[in-house]
Amino acid sequence: MLKVSKFGGSSLATGDQVRQVCDIITADPARRIIVVSAPGKRHSSDIKVTDLLISAASERLMGKIGASECAEAIERYRDIAAELELPTEIVESIAQDFTERLENNIDDSDLYMDTMKAGGEDNCARLIAQVLQARGFEAHYVNPMDAGLLLSDEPGNAHVLPEAYNRLRHLPDRPGITIFPGFFGYSSEGHVVTFSRGGSDITGAILAGAVRAEVYENFTDVDSVFAANPSIVSDPAPISELTYREMRELSYAGFSVFHDEALEPVYRAMVPVHIRNTNNPKAKGTLIVPQCNTRKTPVVGIAAMSNVCCVYLSKYLMNRQIGFGRRLLQILEGENISFEHVPSGIDNMSVIIREDNLPAEKEKRVVEEIRQTLAPEDVSVERGLCIIMVVGEGMQHTVGIAARATGALANSDVNIEIINQGSNEVSMMFGVKSADMDIAVQALYKEFFDGHNS
Ligand code: ASP
Repeated sequence: MLKVSKFGGSSLATGDQVRQVCDIITADPARRIIVVSAPGKRHSSDIKVTDLLISAASERLMGKIGASECAEAIERYRDIAAELELPTEIVESIAQDFTERLENNIDDSDLYMDTMKAGGEDNCARLIAQVLQARGFEAHYVNPMDAGLLLSDEPGNAHVLPEAYNRLRHLPDRPGITIFPGFFGYSSEGHVVTFSRGGSDITGAILAGAVRAEVYENFTDVDSVFAANPSIVSDPAPISELTYREMRELSYAGFSVFHDEALEPVYRAMVPVHIRNTNNPKAKGTLIVPQCNTRKTPVVGIAAMSNVCCVYLSKYLMNRQIGFGRRLLQILEGENISFEHVPSGIDNMSVIIREDNLPAEKEKRVVEEIRQTLAPEDVSVERGLCIIMVVGEGMQHTVGIAARATGALANSDVNIEIINQGSNEVSMMFGVKSADMDIAVQALYKEFFDGHNS
């Protein structure tokens, strides 16, 4: 039996947390491949190690030294090591590694930044291996390059290359417990490249898929995934089981407990994902599986994502104009803008985009090009919107979900600006003003969950 277990930054923020993580690892001999993040926040106003490293690198790139941020990051490891009474040499070698990273060549700023960012995970993995060794367990730090975690050459947003799976397949042949740093791998040219933020989830999923693990355990700081964001709905229902598709839809729209890019590798290999709480390992957690046969309710969760905008255009007889949609999307592609949804009518089309993908100067260029190329009667950009997703596999077989959802929103005086439903019927999307987001989520939660557990 083989489990891949990943521990997030909040599970590794203090020496006490690291102790708990090591207790969990050693409690089950099936936990043989461990993926770790960098130490996260110890309290709400704290700074994650990764953010300290990003600040240090940014300072250096701006011609300053960045030494104080780097020293702060080193201090985090020093505190953890002191709490665990580890030998000082361990921290000295971590300090040396960070200092070397900071002093690296900055000619390629993206690669420099990624090497700095990766240091948080890399040194954390070395530290955990040493803690386990000090406890008498055979544990080894494994470098992603040696293991074969090959990624695309896209610093800060890398993707796994298909050949990586074949190489990583051999990880279980290594003796003892493998401690693998999350968040980064290597490009074919041998450069360190990182995934997008929160990417240690992706590392764990790739390893779990490559070795065909029995389960991918994702240890975090909550007892389970909840049916709605607890900061919007008080005491939301815990979700005991979810399908991959449901989790994908929920994490896409704001459920940050699991990175949305981390589902693909486990989905392809059909490895179940178990979301668990490091601080409460006895809690049941949430299982993400191919199919859920036991659930009685059609909706499993309600997610919301703010800061989106809508590019709207209308043109009489648009439906007869061949290539209109393609040309519109090509304009966005030309500006390197990815879009989220494209709801359309016969004579109008809207493109929903995350606001940070459409800064003001790009908006100006896009609108101008739309005017020139497509000659619409009307083109406008509305900002300050949010997307609400009602998610559940059971919606496919249930009549009246849209009526219930729209009724609930109407009863709460929320004006729906956009509605979209993918043909797989796993989710229904509503676009409303950001100011109405909380009210909308509360209304939908009340409609689909009040008095029920999913
Ligand atoms: N440490 C990285 C971040 O903060 C990656 C991770 O935690 O998964 O984004």
